[in-house]
This record gives sequence, structure tokens and C-alpha cells, in this order.
Amino acid sequence: MRICRIVCELLLLAVLAGGILLCMVALANAGWITVQPTRQSTPSYRLPILIDIESHLWNGHPYADRDTSTHAHEGTHGINGLLRNSTGKKAFYVLNGKAFVFEPLLSKNLYRAKEFVPASLRGGCYWYMQPGHWWYYDPSHIIDEFTAYTNGSIARNQMGRTDRRDTVAFTLEFIVYSSCVFICDTRHAQAEQWKDKEYKTFMKWSIERAMLVYKKSNTRNTNEAYLQRLRTSKDAMKLRESMRAWYGKAWTRKVLGF
Ligand SMILES: [Zn+2]
Repeated sequence: MRICRIVCELLLLAVLAGGILLCMVALANAGWITVQPTRQSTPSYRLPILIDIESHLWNGHPYADRDTSTHAHEGTHGINGLLRNSTGKKAFYVLNGKAFVFEPLLSKNLYRAKEFVPASLRGGCYWYMQPGHWWYYDPSHIIDEFTAYTNGSIARNQMGRTDRRDTVAFTLEFIVYSSCVFICDTRHAQAEQWKDKEYKTFMKWSIERAMLVYKKSNTRNTNEAYLQRLRTSKDAMKLRESMRAWYGKAWTRKVLGF
């Protein structure tokens, strides 16, 4: 009972301190949280994803953009920032009132992750892997971008757009970059923090979501080549082996085709 009361008090504190309503369903290093809307979305937004994102931001926020995919992308960063402030953890909003949080990732491994990306899979967003900025000590911004690009691609799909193929291409790139952040260094993979199965669960869930979005995007003629390089390029052999080892062979075969 006492534990229950403490948990309730923590929940109340999180609500009061955050300015954004959330319900922690996991108090471990990593886990899913439910995020309640902070306001009614303004009537000018009719697209489901923008209604969702806008309802989790505040009046006068700076993330709106004339391009709907960019709006969804930047709005996702905005919600992630709110959640970081209220939880004290890294947070990634994946729509429908759902987010994943985890402790800051181990520092100084972005350089290793960057080098781990095979040359054939270094695309237009590879520059995000460049250490030397404020995120050098925290590569979780790569996961932040993965979430934002996936949400931006969902916006594109919901509008039935045929342009903005780049946002789908970047979503696929971040499947690789995000994976490299986790699996680039076996010493890190063996560290206690990285053993937490929740990280892997979240990554698998996110990649499945990204692949589903890609399949609905009708960009196969321009974007399939990237996935094909992931599946077959000689220089990606080590990455494929590592992904099979971390995610499971049956899963990589089913979801990514190798
Ligand atoms: Zn971004």
C-alpha cells in the first residue's frame, strides 16, 4: 500500500511539475508513458496527426510550419522537449498519446556510431551523426530525429502527398543510424544500461512502425534502393550481423528482409 501511495505521489508530482499531463506506466530506466493532451487543438487543423500533435503543445508554440510534414516533424521535437522537462528523461512522442522515455544514453559513443554506418548507407541525414555539437555527449538526439521523421512521413501519408519523398527516405536512414547508436560498440551493448530490454523493444517497435509508414508511402521506386543496400551491400555485412544479433534473426528477416 505504502509503495502504491509513493507511486501515486510521484505521478501527482510529475503532473504538477511538468505542465503536461502524463501517466508513468514504467518507472524503470526506460518504458512507455501515456501523454494526455494539454489543450484542445485549434479548429484550423483537420489532419488527424496535426490535431494530435497540436493538442500536446501550447498556445503560441514555435513549431508550426506551412509544410505539414515539417509541422509534424518539428511539433514532435516540441513535445519531446516538454516531456524531457517533465520526466527528466529522454522522451520520444510516437502519437496517439504514447511516448517512450529512457535515461540519457551513454556518452561519447556518437563517434563510434558514426563510423559504424557503412559508406553505402550514409545518406542526406548522415551529418546528424557528426560529433562536435552539443549532442556529442548524448546521441539520443538520433532517436529523437528518427521519431520526428517517422511522424513527418505519417503526415505525408495522411495527406496523400506525392512530393516530400525525402522525409520518407530520411525515415529509412534513421533506421540505420538509430540502430548504430545502440549496437556500434559491443562494450556498450554489454553495459548494464544497454541490457535493458526496453531499449530493444522500443527500437523494434519503432522500426516496424517506420517500415509500415514506408510501405504506405508509395515511394518504393525512389527509396527501395536504400533498403536494398542495407540487405545486400558488402560493406553493410557487419551491420547486418550486428542487427541480427541484437534484434534477432527471425525479426530482421521478417521486418527488414535480411
Ligand atoms: Zn528534426
